Amino acid sequence: MKLIFLGPPGAGKGTLAGLVGKQHKIPQISTGDIFREAVKKQTELGLKVKSIMERGYLVPDELTINLVKERLSREDARKGFILDGFPRTIPQADALNSFQVINAVINFQINDDIVIRRLSGRRTCRSCGAIYHIENRPPKTEGICDNCGGELYVRDDDRVDSIKKRIEVYKNQTEPLIQYYREKYLLKNVDASVSVEHSIEEMNRILWT
Ligand code: ADP
Ligand code: ZN
Repeated sequence: MKLIFLGPPGAGKGTLAGLVGKQHKIPQISTGDIFREAVKKQTELGLKVKSIMERGYLVPDELTINLVKERLSREDARKGFILDGFPRTIPQADALNSFQVINAVINFQINDDIVIRRLSGRRTCRSCGAIYHIENRPPKTEGICDNCGGELYVRDDDRVDSIKKRIEVYKNQTEPLIQYYREKYLLKNVDASVSVEHSIEEMNRILWT
């Protein structure tokens, strides 16, 4: 199954993609995670994207497209994958079309208030990237990752100004993809304002029955 997860920042795409990918043994390919990893390791790519990401803007299309193309050409993505955070613009979607056939696009629906509340409470593990939330999904010990004992922190782009920018960027550049995929009969809406378990149940019902 080759899937795209679409939705505003804070819809929980990352969490859901991680869980569903594990359930169905397909890799979760998150462009955001790839970029964050590059920033952390201070690679050439990381240095290029650091300030763009911190401010909540999008990384240039060409760079992002080449990266995803390379990632999807690897063996583990042959049978299926979940694209989490890609495509985010019409040119990215057109490019993807030219090298992959997608089975479905899951559109996670949620309103702005909930997004802001979720993102500002989000904590990310510095070591393994696991995602928590101070209210909805707290770690067993405050500030410490349940999986690996790593330190939990607030991503630079989870600060309030960046959150507002990311929502605006989403509306201008990414939301048009909803219509784009609807016209291709690939779009499936899933309510993302409910619990993770509910969203997954709804998604599995849509995709695997
Ligand atoms: P979010 O929680 O906003 O969905 P992500 O982890 O998916 O965040 O992405 C974090 C940042 O990485 C984005 O704000 C953007 O700067 C960059 N990024 C991720 N995916 C893409 C993409 N497909 N195109 C351009 N930039 C991207
Ligand atoms: Zn961790």
